[in-house]
Amino acid sequence: MPANSSSDSSILEQLSAYGHKKLVYCNDPDSGLKAIIAIHDTTLGPALGGTRMWSYATEGEALEDALRLSRGMTYKSAITGLNLGGGKGVIIGDSRKDKTETLMRSYGRFIKNLNGEFITAEEMGTNTRDMEFIRMETNYVTGVPESIGGAGNPAPFTAQGVYLGIKASVKEVFGTDMLAGRTIVVQGIGNVGEHLVALLRKENAEVLISDINQEQLTYVARKYKAKPIEADKIFGIDADVYAPCAMGATVNNKTIERMKFAIIAGSANNQLKDEVLDSELLMKKGILFAPDYLINAGGLISCYSELTGFGKKRTVQLTENIYEATRNVIKLSKAEQIPTNIAVNRIAEKRIADIKKIKSTY
Ligand code: NAD
Repeated sequence: MPANSSSDSSILEQLSAYGHKKLVYCNDPDSGLKAIIAIHDTTLGPALGGTRMWSYATEGEALEDALRLSRGMTYKSAITGLNLGGGKGVIIGDSRKDKTETLMRSYGRFIKNLNGEFITAEEMGTNTRDMEFIRMETNYVTGVPESIGGAGNPAPFTAQGVYLGIKASVKEVFGTDMLAGRTIVVQGIGNVGEHLVALLRKENAEVLISDINQEQLTYVARKYKAKPIEADKIFGIDADVYAPCAMGATVNNKTIERMKFAIIAGSANNQLKDEVLDSELLMKKGILFAPDYLINAGGLISCYSELTGFGKKRTVQLTENIYEATRNVIKLSKAEQIPTNIAVNRIAEKRIADIKKIKSTY
């Protein structure tokens, strides 16, 4: 939800503000499950979106995350050319301490009750094993392990798309998409971030990394010869690219003021705290923003392939399109003098509106 939405407004008002269809609160005291599923739009198909498990400070924060993330999924599917709507699940809790088989299976039963209107996958704080538990209760889950017929962890495809989005942006700013010698800061080196670091280092980019998980930071720094930096030092660093791969809203008026990056391109959903104001600030400062839901769609493509039976070859092909799609969005943004996130929204909204029209034919 954009920052200007008021948490004082009623839940129905919050749903109406950005066209959300449905909200499901899941409460199971026996397993300790407290979750929210948000369904934004199903014009293009069933609402697909990962399930995030996070220690939200308040219920309101969890709701806001679910609403913002589900809307992003509608746009992500639309721009990627997939026949899926947008949804998202959030489970309130610490994934390292509170996650159990019963909790995930209980959550699976809530998904089952939605009869296919919502299909989930892994997200921050959840993994393929969790999807396997959900699968024990419902078929409306993707990203299950390959050993039981799924496409496995979608994160490598997400990382591949982000890598291509970075290359397309680097081409725009520096005239070549070669990454050797470019300095790239990756914030968050979990599932996606670690795969991204591997791809960047393979091309000899200089990679700086930060994570609140010290163990992971040390491990990734050693394995890929990346340079660890303190989390609060990120925004003053002189680097070519900032790749946010942790939480959203890290791009805001306070951080933009300190930024010396030429490009922002990462996997984190909803990187801009305020979609309108922050994108204008970035434009004024001459920082190129590769819209998050455009370049982080690789994982969604992998989930879609699992659902439709496309297979890995098609997943790779569709993920590779992200390079050209990013170039096209940058072109439109320059031609119309509008921020890249507004340009990509326009293309996504047009596809949804066009498909809505053909659905009037029985
Ligand atoms: P993850 O939980 O595996 O990794 C996130 C990492 O970020 C963790 O290592 C965590 O310790 C770190 N982190 C959290 N807060 C931080 C902070 N303030 N500073 C530095 N590090 C911090 O999650 P993931 O699956 O890698 O996803 C990362 C981001 O990409 C999320 O925003 C997610 O929504 C988005 N995304 C993921 C996928 C996917 O396929 N997994 C697809 C699309 C978008």
